Amino acid sequence: MITAEIVHRILRLRGDGLPLVSVYVRVPTDPTDRADLPGRLNSVLDQVEPMAEDKSLDRAARLSLRGDMERMREEVRTERWRPGAVAFFSCSARDVFEAVQLPRAVQDRVVLDETPWVRPMLAVLEEYARCCVVVVDRARARVWEWFADEIEPIAALSDRTMRKPNYAATMAEDRVHHKAEELAREHYRHTAAELAQLHEADGYDLLAVGGHRAELPQFLDALPRGLRKRVAGTFTVDPHTVDRGTIKQKVEPIVARYMRDVDLRLVGEVLESVARGRGFGVLGVADCLWAATVKAVETLLVQDGAMVAGVACTNCSWLGTSGDTCPLCEHATRHTEDILDELTRAVIDESGSVRHVQEDTDIAEHLAAASLRFPLPPVP
Ligand SMILES: [Zn+2]
Repeated sequence: MITAEIVHRILRLRGDGLPLVSVYVRVPTDPTDRADLPGRLNSVLDQVEPMAEDKSLDRAARLSLRGDMERMREEVRTERWRPGAVAFFSCSARDVFEAVQLPRAVQDRVVLDETPWVRPMLAVLEEYARCCVVVVDRARARVWEWFADEIEPIAALSDRTMRKPNYAATMAEDRVHHKAEELAREHYRHTAAELAQLHEADGYDLLAVGGHRAELPQFLDALPRGLRKRVAGTFTVDPHTVDRGTIKQKVEPIVARYMRDVDLRLVGEVLESVARGRGFGVLGVADCLWAATVKAVETLLVQDGAMVAGVACTNCSWLGTSGDTCPLCEHATRHTEDILDELTRAVIDESGSVRHVQEDTDIAEHLAAASLRFPLPPVP
């Protein structure tokens, strides 16, 4: 599965004067449909084919495109892709090739540019929070990782517990009870420490906790404060019989609600910074492009699925909605069918954060909004 490291490597790919081909192809869930993946890829590449033969194009570019198509066809023939989508980024003349599996379907598309077209990939990835799931009872705990609808067991631990007490024996009933409680508390602390370590190492976005309803509060109390804040939901389940299917069913709504809350909170924060009117927030594509040009964007929100044509300077970092020459350095601009993609990449390059909003909020009308690190200088 795709990692942050791969994403950053892809963001840095360049064609350096030659076309970099970005291709997204859906991989159907149905195995019969999936078998036709080479066919799907071919229909996407139908748009590239004529260019590879176009004599008005530089020979190096034509050869590079042919190499790109060949490599992609080879990949779908020989690799086993899982349902969702596969993305290719290729510029064979520059020895650039990346193929990544995406966890959900995106639209089949091809974009030729000097830079990789990354927005569908980023949008897909940020939809998936990494959730740590723990199911705990008084003596045992099992931990799963949830990412992109996949659940993997990652840890299991068990602690000492009281054997069936023999009440007729030496120990008084309240002492038995006391001892059992003590062992359970110890087990909860042990589990909490393990979880804290996992979080430290893997940086999960949220934690979901399951178990017997009566036992959960005591376990939650044992969690260190930092971890408790990450608990996005709890669920009731019998730890003895719990299986993958049950976990999925219980955790899905917790993760969905978490993601929705994150979206709404971010939209609220950014719109508030716009409303305050001190220049620390902007609304609309044009202002966001200017903000990204001067590296002012802290958090960028874009409406998921929206595409806007625009221009990028071939010399400096200027981005705009139109114009053949750059107003900053007077170099020629490059037209692009999705300036929001350039915008997204520019913000990520400057360590800003980007989120594609799926909810129907005020962002839908303006397509983009951003909170800023500093108020913008006047537009040139
Ligand atoms: Zn420029």
